[in-house]
Amino acid sequence: MRIAHISATPLALAFKEPYHWAGRVDFGATVVLVEVETDAGITGVGESTAASQAEGTVGALQGAVAHSFVGESVFDIERLLMRARYLGGFNHTPWFANLVLAGLEMALWDVIGKASGRPVYQLLGGAVRDQVDYFGFPQGDAAEELAEDARALAEAGYSVIYMKVGRGEATDLRNVAAVREAIGDLRLRLDANGAWTVPEAIHMIGRLARFEPEWIEQPTAPLSIAALRQVKESVGVPVAADQSVFTLHDVYEICRQRAADAIVLSPHETGGLLAFRKAAAVAEAAGVPICLHGQSVSSITDAAQHHVALSIPNLTEGNQIMHQLLVEDLVSAPDLTPHHGVLGMLDTAGLGIELDRDAIARAAELYEGDERYHGV
Ligand SMILES: [Mg+2]
Repeated sequence: MRIAHISATPLALAFKEPYHWAGRVDFGATVVLVEVETDAGITGVGESTAASQAEGTVGALQGAVAHSFVGESVFDIERLLMRARYLGGFNHTPWFANLVLAGLEMALWDVIGKASGRPVYQLLGGAVRDQVDYFGFPQGDAAEELAEDARALAEAGYSVIYMKVGRGEATDLRNVAAVREAIGDLRLRLDANGAWTVPEAIHMIGRLARFEPEWIEQPTAPLSIAALRQVKESVGVPVAADQSVFTLHDVYEICRQRAADAIVLSPHETGGLLAFRKAAAVAEAAGVPICLHGQSVSSITDAAQHHVALSIPNLTEGNQIMHQLLVEDLVSAPDLTPHHGVLGMLDTAGLGIELDRDAIARAAELYEGDERYHGV
C-alpha cells in the first residue's frame, strides 16, 4: 500500500475561557490537520501542532516532506521519517522537525491500523494497562475561580490535580493555597513553564512546599539542564522536566545527569508515537516515569496519545489531556472525556476516531478569517 497524497490544513480552535499560564494568556490554539491518502483508498488522519506559525508547518509538510513520501510504502515509517529529517531541510531545527512530522506519523499509523483491522496501540507493542489516568486541570484567573473548578474536578473523581504557577509570588501562593484547600489531600502538581531563574525557583519551591505538591514541573528555562539539576538538588520537592525535553537524546541527557524525577513529554515533541515509545524506553532504563504532555490540541492528538500511553510501561498517573478546553472539538466519536479521571480502551481499527467534518470546516474558516491565530 503506497502513499498517494498528503494534505495539511491549518485549523483554529477557540478555548472556552482564557487559558492562563506563566508565559501569557491564550484564547485559542492553532493545529494542522494531516491527511494521508493511499492507493488502496484508505485515508489516515493525524494532527501537528502549529509550532508558532501554521504556515511554516504546512509549508514543510507539503513541500519536500510530501514529495519524498508520495509513492512510498506506508509500512516504512521509521525509514521515511529518517529520510524526511534530511530532505525536509530540518538539519538545524530538530525540535521543529518533530513538531511537523508528528501529525504525519500519526496518520500513517491510522492507515496501517485501518488496513490491518487493529487499534494503533496493538501495533505499538500492545496494551500494558486497560485505562490511562488523566489529571484534572482547573481553569480561571483568580484564586476563587481556580478553586471552584478544582473542587468540581475533585468531585468528578480525578485523583491528580494540575495547575499553573510562575505568575508572580503573591498570585502563586494565593492560587495554590485556594486549590489545595479545595481538593483536600488529592495529588497536586504545579507547573511553572520555565518562569524562574535558579534562585527564584529555589525560593518559590521553598514557599510552595507547605502545600505538598507531588512535583514542580519545569521550574527553570528550557535550554539549561544544569539549572534544572541545580534546583532538583537544592529542594525537597520532586522536579519534572517538560520544555527541556523533545527528543530521545534530550531524555538521555536528563536521565544521565539525574536532572529530573519525572519527564513530561508528548508525541509531538518526539516526532511521533514510535519515537515517543523509544524516548519512554530511555527513561524506563533510568527508572524515570513518563507523563503525557498535552499541548493545545484537539481529540485527534488526545486519541493518538492515548493509544501510545496504553503501551508505555513507565507511564505515570495524572497525564495531560486538552480537548476539553475547546469550544468545539474536531472528533465526533468516540467521547474521549475521562470518567473518574480515567479513559479506557479504544478498540476500533486505527486511531479509532470519526472526524466531525462540519467542525473542521468551521475551524479552517476561523483560521482563515482571524489573524490572531496566525501566530499561536
Ligand atoms: Mg508543562
